[in-house]
Amino acid sequence: MEKKNLDWGNLGFSYHVTDKRYVSMFQNGAWDDGALISDDKIVMSEDAGVLHYSQSVFEGLKAYETEDGHIVCFRPDLNASRMADSARRLEMPAFPEDRFVKAVIETVKANAAWVPPYGSGATLYVRPLMFGISPVIGVAPAEDYMFRIFTTPVGPYFKGGQKPIVVRISDFDRAAPRGTGHIKAGLNYAMSLHAIVDAHKKGFAENIYLDPATRTKIEETGGANILFVDRDGKLVIPTSDSILPSITRRSLHYVAEHYLGMTVVEREVTLQEVDDGNFVECGLCGTAAVISPIGKIYDHGKEILLESGMEDIGPVMKKLYDTLTGIQMGRIEAPEGWIQKIM
Ligand SMILES: *Cc1c(COP(=O)(O)O)cnc(C)c1O
Repeated sequence: MEKKNLDWGNLGFSYHVTDKRYVSMFQNGAWDDGALISDDKIVMSEDAGVLHYSQSVFEGLKAYETEDGHIVCFRPDLNASRMADSARRLEMPAFPEDRFVKAVIETVKANAAWVPPYGSGATLYVRPLMFGISPVIGVAPAEDYMFRIFTTPVGPYFKGGQKPIVVRISDFDRAAPRGTGHIKAGLNYAMSLHAIVDAHKKGFAENIYLDPATRTKIEETGGANILFVDRDGKLVIPTSDSILPSITRRSLHYVAEHYLGMTVVEREVTLQEVDDGNFVECGLCGTAAVISPIGKIYDHGKEILLESGMEDIGPVMKKLYDTLTGIQMGRIEAPEGWIQKIM
């Protein structure tokens, strides 16, 4: 198979139309067989449910080449089950989980020429999405849904090393208690756009959101979970019902315990503890970057400099990053079921 002629080392994180996408429709109460198609455009009613009441959920994962030349993706079964959970919360029909994994495999295979070569740092980003497509005028769930998977090659998240970022404690809230923070829905992102544009204007890379009920506990950023390392070297993971269950975070929890012999604590983390300097390292985690180290946290004029500093990723985050990316790339043996071979 001949690869596309792209400058793999210099791709950004942007959309690039690839050859094939997978589409399945839910109509008359059932999912059809689904198929790979070439058309990247969607024609729908101006009254489609998604356009008015934001009935839409999505996922994100990566396909990539391993050291021994296979194309694989990482734990797609977890994306399948999370998307089904997201759909149910928005009164959408869940796409069958086994079919989700098969459709990811089929779509990546059909776009194999777009999978960046091993060592380039680039990957093929896979974006499953699903939305209400039939007309809806009174507030109600749509009758018909489109499930779709497309792919786009994306560059390495870090060009020239993992530079620590500066984040701020946000005055905006992300997800209400008992709301939709735990599902991967576009609606959670629409309302974060103003906060992120404002953060960037003021020189911050991201917003850390607090729990809206008390504004005393750390939740997550707009698109990544947060990890801390405390003074005893324990990995501390904030908990809350409105944090999105990151697959990267769940995998790092396992890696910390089973590969690195660390103690991992999942518990509520207060802003006060962060302000008091109880943590020596902090990082964001998600599919795109795996881990982005945080060097500094701004809390309303107060500046918390993590001990790992602004020069480089801290030693614990580095070990976590190297181990998980080593597992993903096939350099370190993976736990059973983590690596889905595609071809
Ligand atoms: C997707 C997402 C994450 C990261 O999840 P991964 O499964 O690790 O990619 C974290 N927070 C939010 C709000 C997200 O939407």
